[in-house]
Amino acid sequence: MTTTPQRLADVKSRIAAAARAAHRDAALIHLVAVTKTFGADHILPALACGHRCFGENRVQEAKAKWPALRTRFPDIELHLIGPLQSNKARDAVALFDAIHTIDRARIAEVVAAEMAKQERRLKLFIEVNTGAEPQKAGVDPKEAARLLRLCREDLNLDIAGLMCIPPQDEEAAVHFAVLAKLARELGLTELSMGMSADFETAVASGATYVRVGSQIFGVRAPHSAT
Ligand SMILES: *Cc1c(COP(=O)(O)O)cnc(C)c1O
Repeated sequence: MTTTPQRLADVKSRIAAAARAAHRDAALIHLVAVTKTFGADHILPALACGHRCFGENRVQEAKAKWPALRTRFPDIELHLIGPLQSNKARDAVALFDAIHTIDRARIAEVVAAEMAKQERRLKLFIEVNTGAEPQKAGVDPKEAARLLRLCREDLNLDIAGLMCIPPQDEEAAVHFAVLAKLARELGLTELSMGMSADFETAVASGATYVRVGSQIFGVRAPHSAT
């Protein structure tokens, strides 16, 4: 049996090794520890060994879990990595420090309005549907430049970078390369890509944020309906 701190340390050393192999500075690669479906009992050991950067994919679940942890650990950095509905934007802006899933004009607009109202600056990523899968979240790669322009020019939003979730049955490296190339073309420096199965590949492809859940916290129970 391994413990959460051991698995966290293992993931961090694998990130460092992948960075070295790619001649990259490991300090530029952030590990978002994804805690969806896991409660405070699982999260506290990671906090106890000093980790502060976490990801959740549902606003409601995060709202139930994190405010209490924040009062004990004020320097927590919380990332929304799941889809955002406009009626959850107010809670999301209040709760999170970063949103990785800006993928359409309407969401960019409501997030911009909430950030202004709440006087908060979140780190924002545009999610790109690199596989152009019809049912999947993310802006079509061909539309990314237009969405970025709307964010910057019409909404005065500072976009840090791009995020993707490659199709399950395809080679992740191909999608990471597409995202990295698009970010270069758009002049964006941050890349949110790579999960438990492929974070080392993502580091080799230029990831600056990897989102790792099960490799740290174990296998997730299926989500109950909310
Ligand atoms: C759950 C999730 C992850 C982490 O997945 P693992 O395979 O458990 O590492 C990363 N990104 C997103 C968007 C997720 O929803």
